Amino acid sequence: MKLLILDRDGVINEDSDAFIKNPDEWRPLPGAATAIARLNKAGYRIAIATNQSGIARGLFDLDTLAAIHSKLHQTINDAGGRIEAIFFCPHAADSNCDCRKPRPGMIFDILKRFGADPQETVVVGDALRDLQAAHAAGCRSILVLTGKGTRTLQAGNLPQGTTVRVDLTAIAAELAA
Ligand SMILES: [Mg+2]
Ligand SMILES: [Zn+2]
Repeated sequence: MKLLILDRDGVINEDSDAFIKNPDEWRPLPGAATAIARLNKAGYRIAIATNQSGIARGLFDLDTLAAIHSKLHQTINDAGGRIEAIFFCPHAADSNCDCRKPRPGMIFDILKRFGADPQETVVVGDALRDLQAAHAAGCRSILVLTGKGTRTLQAGNLPQGTTVRVDLTAIAAELAA
């Protein structure tokens, strides 16, 4: 089974330092939905693992997060693609939970849910913590240069084996070729 685990903000949709707090603020990156559909058609199953500490901060609630994710699913579906699961960490940065990336808890949970082999699973992210979580779970990691990606590349210290691609469209062109 081919499984892709995507970060959300900065990979599928525009990132915001002020958090994505409602469906209107959720805006897909150009080409992202089409790229996901293309990957689906090439046999990839796709899940999302996203830190959403805005919940713990009281910036939005679980109902609002569900509404944001309805818009996400609708956007991907309209392009002919499908996200099978969205796993999120609702906790604060200082909560010490196992799910918040760079810890690998969410990645492990997704691998278990899908019965996937970590070595055959690719994690895509725009932040160092996405790549660190992937590495800790034994998955392949790809840094995209959308969202915080360019800054992440410039800061360096990427986990061993990380590859870099421009965006999801470039990944789809390669994996779904
Ligand atoms: Mg991100
Ligand atoms: Zn958590």
